[in-house]
Parts: sequence; C-alpha cells; structure tokens
Amino acid sequence: MGKATGFMDYERQTANERDPLERIHDWKEYSAPFSDEVAKTQGARCMDCGTPFCHIGTDIAGATSGCPIYNLIPEWNDLVYKGKWKEALDRLMKTNNFPEFTGRVCPAPCEGSCTVAINDPAVTIKNIEQKIIDKGFEEGWIEPRIPSHRTGKKVAIIGSGPAGLAAADQLNQAGHSVTVFERADRAGGLLTYGIPNMKLDKDVVERRIHLLKQEGIDFVLNTEVGKDISANTIKQDYDSVILCTGAQQHRDLPLEGREAEGVRFAMDYLTRSTEKLLDDQVKLEQELNAEGKDVIVIGGGDTGADCIATALRQGAKSIVQFGKHPQLPIKRAEENQWPAYPQVFSLEYAHKEAKAAFGEDIRQYSIQTTKFVTDENGKLKELHTIDMKKTRDENGIFVFEELPGTEKVWPAQLVLIAIGFQGAEQPVLDAFDVQTTNHKVNAMYGDFRTNVEHVFAAGDVRRGQSLIVWAINEGREVACHVDEFLMGQTTLPSVANM
Ligand SMILES: Cc1cc2nc3c(=O)[nH]c(=O)nc-3n(C[C@H](O)[C@H](O)[C@H](O)COP(=O)(O)OP(=O)(O)OC[C@H]3O[C@@H](n4cnc5c(N)ncnc54)[C@H](O)[C@@H]3O)c2cc1C
Ligand code: SF4
Repeated sequence: MGKATGFMDYERQTANERDPLERIHDWKEYSAPFSDEVAKTQGARCMDCGTPFCHIGTDIAGATSGCPIYNLIPEWNDLVYKGKWKEALDRLMKTNNFPEFTGRVCPAPCEGSCTVAINDPAVTIKNIEQKIIDKGFEEGWIEPRIPSHRTGKKVAIIGSGPAGLAAADQLNQAGHSVTVFERADRAGGLLTYGIPNMKLDKDVVERRIHLLKQEGIDFVLNTEVGKDISANTIKQDYDSVILCTGAQQHRDLPLEGREAEGVRFAMDYLTRSTEKLLDDQVKLEQELNAEGKDVIVIGGGDTGADCIATALRQGAKSIVQFGKHPQLPIKRAEENQWPAYPQVFSLEYAHKEAKAAFGEDIRQYSIQTTKFVTDENGKLKELHTIDMKKTRDENGIFVFEELPGTEKVWPAQLVLIAIGFQGAEQPVLDAFDVQTTNHKVNAMYGDFRTNVEHVFAAGDVRRGQSLIVWAINEGREVACHVDEFLMGQTTLPSVANM
C-alpha cells in the first residue's frame, strides 16, 4: 500500500525533462527515468484506497478512464516503495507485454482516475512503470522466454504494431508458431514509424523486437499482404490469421489549393523524418524538410504535437498549430469530474519546446482553414483562415459557426494535415473479404472473429485510431480467443477472468 501517510508527506514529482532549448537540438528522448529513490517516494504516495479506480479501464464520456490492461498498480507501487524491484517487475509483466512503451508514451488515463487525484495531484504511475521495466532490462532480469513445447499450430499476424506484437507474444508463449507480416522495412507499427524518437527511442522498440525473435517469433518485413503475398495463400498456409493492420487511412482537407506543393499529411512527414533519422542514406524530400520554413500544423491533437517537435528539430523558422476547438479549461469542468479522463489545458512536450523556442504558446484555437494559396510555381505561399464559435444546437449537439470579419492570412511554406484518421485501410480487408462498418472491421470486442472463417481482427483496425495500451489489451484478448479456437480451451490470461 505504499506508506500510510505518503500521499500527505510527499509532493507529486514527474520524470526529469531535459531543458527544452537544449533538447530541440537532438533526437534523444526528452525525459529521463526516475532515480531509485524518487521512484520509491513516489510509490509511497499510493494510498491503498481499497477500490483502486486507477485500473478500471473503461470509457467515460468518450475518453478512457483507468488502465485498459488492468495493470496491478497499487501492488507494484507498494513493492517499489519497499525496494522489491524484481517482484514489482513480475507483477507488472503479468498484465503488460510492453511496459517500456506505455511507461514512455501512454497518456496515463490511470492517473486521471487515481483516488489521490480527487483533491491532490495523482500518483505518478506512468513514470514508476517506466522505472520498473527499465530497471528490469538494466539488471538483466528480462531474458528470452523460449516456449518449452510447440503445438504444431501456425498463426499469421498481419501488422506489427503493438496489437500485433502483443498477440504474437501471447500466442508464441502458448506454444503456437507465429509469423508476423509487416509491409514496412522495420517492425513496430506506429511505435516505429509514427511516434517520434524523442518520445520513444527506436532502440527501445528494436530491443523488444529482438527479444520476440529470440523467443521464436518470425518477422517477415517489406511484405504487404494482399499485394506481395495473397490473402488466400496466407489463409491456406496458416491455421489462424489475425488482422492487426491499424487505422492509418488519412483524413484529408479537400480545400481550394490542397494540391499545392508543401501541403502534406502529418503521417508522411513523421514517417519520412524517422526513416531519415534511422538511416542517414535516406534522402528527405525537400518538400518535407521544415528547415527555414514557416510551418503550420492543422489539427490540435497528439499527432500535430509530434509534428511540432519534429519541425523544431529540423530548424523551422516559425510554427503555428491550429485547433478547431476552444482552449480547454485549467480545472476540470462540471461535466468532467473524477474519475473521467481530465479534459484540462496542458503543455505537451512539444508545446513546451515551441514556447521556449518562440517565446509563446504557438497554438491557435477555434480556427478553421479556408484555402491554400500558391505562388506561380505551384508552391504553397500562404494559408487563409476564419475564426469559429463552438455552440450547442437545439438538440444539444456541438456545432461550429464561422465568425465573419475574422479572416486572416498566414505565410506558410509547409502545412501538415493532422486532423485524424478515417480508419482502417481497405485493400487488405478487401483481399480477405472482411466486412467493415465506418472503416472499422466488424468483429465484436470479446470475440474478435470477422465474418471470414479463422480470420480475427484486433487493435486500431477494429476499434479505430486509439492508444497503445488499448492495442496491447486487444492483442492479449484476441490471443485468448485464437488459442481457444485452435486448442478448444485456453490458459492465456484475459481481462475477462481477472
Ligand atoms: C503520430 C502518432 C502518435 C501517436 N502517439 C501515441 C502516444 O503517444 N501514445 C499512445 O498511447 N498512442 C499514440 N498513438 C496511437 C497508437 O500509436 C495506436 O493506437 C497504436 O499504434 C495502434 O496499434 P495497432 O497495432 O493497432 O496498429 P499500428 O501501430 O497502426 O500498426 C499497424 C501495422 O500494420 C502494418 N500493415 C498495414 N497493412 C498491412 C498489410 N497489408 N500487410 C502488412 N502490414 C500491414 C502497418 O505498416 C503497421 O506497421 C499515436 C498515433 C499516431 C498516428
Ligand atoms: S499502461 Fe497507461 S494507463 Fe496503464 S498503468 Fe501504464 S500509464 Fe497507466
């Protein structure tokens, strides 16, 4: 339970962030893990509340509240406080295949529903999670777990993001022979090409992939299923197939001037930038290099924030981020009470960096782009906007209204569209004849079967663009169902029997 009076004795402390003005000159992770001592005092703040809401893992008003993989948070907080690191690691690994990813980049819905957070700053759960797993690797406690028996059953997993990797890990440990097909040149999905290096070092991703390979999982890279290898071949060659192909179908902004050189999708920008970072031989298109440019990021979410941090490191002249919604309140609003995810104003790592570099918060709220304008060579030169007002209509639905007279013109040579994703990419789903609704595969959570015999689906391809922790949840859960389908029973853990 931590220390009985820990939540009164100690202040909340988060991991040390490097100086923003220093870190924008490199691509290393922006924060350093806790020391042993700090982790212990922070673990001591866990108050043994009796009914820990930190791991309820559910949606409240459209946002996740509590940990979706039901991490045994109070147990490992207590073990960390007592210095029992190895035991803490064992408890952590019971529910989370990849704490080194969530400990770094999870938005920590557990902290929003921590009981201490009712009237005090929450326990720093995420940073403690990272500390436990990083220590596990440092101490050599994480070793390949080679399954002692093989069932003779073969499973193909399409897509190597966190959902595919979690499913592969579970099914491999159950003794099945698992092959992961990935169209990119490296495994990891958005962990590798999406989330930038300064949030999640690619060596950390590679270390886990290496471990999974040592444990017997086969990775087939540079192979797009449905194009380089047919869906029928996969269906014939494997006893079961799991689609974990993500939800990376872009949402576009089809405005006047959209075809201008210099208007690109955020994902193209982030992917190419990481490819270049990982391989110096890769040439970054001039169009996608922010150096010396006025950059505008359209979209107020996390993908947009990752674009800001990337553009800063490339040496952008100026950066502005547009959001459609008004600025969030400083404190929880009446309709956003604990244990719901706190919808409050925050400065993300990228916003802190931009503020340090440019002297002010670079976000513009309640603003809408109306057109892109090019020079005589078809290159973007400016972007036009109008301010918006967010109100509710007579049915209580939010509507956005343009405010005449608020039109503005912004100089820009690079615009990055980061307004979310439509959902799953269709070609691979068509190749398998899998049915979809609103760009998501029709497969019920808790069953995960598609309409096609022995083909399952999990992760963003099923639920839409979400979080790594949900992808891990779905990977673990689909593994239970596939194991049961193959063997008639399963002993794999499931949130359903926790
Ligand atoms: C820029 C960005 C930043 C994000 N930051 C965070 C964050 O900080 N924290 C967080 O919790 N979540 C974050 N997310 C969301 C999170 O990354 C996703 O929810 C998660 O990665 C989904 O996992 P997945 O395995 O379902 O799919 P993905 O990670 O999308 O992986 C799908 C994989 O399938 C492969 N694939 C697709 N089609 C085929 C095919 N036909 N053949 C072979 N392979 C194929 C793709 O190449 C890809 O590697 C972020 C998302 C984006 C876009
Ligand atoms: S995975 Fe995310 S929600 Fe779960 S304990 Fe870790 S930081 Fe919290």
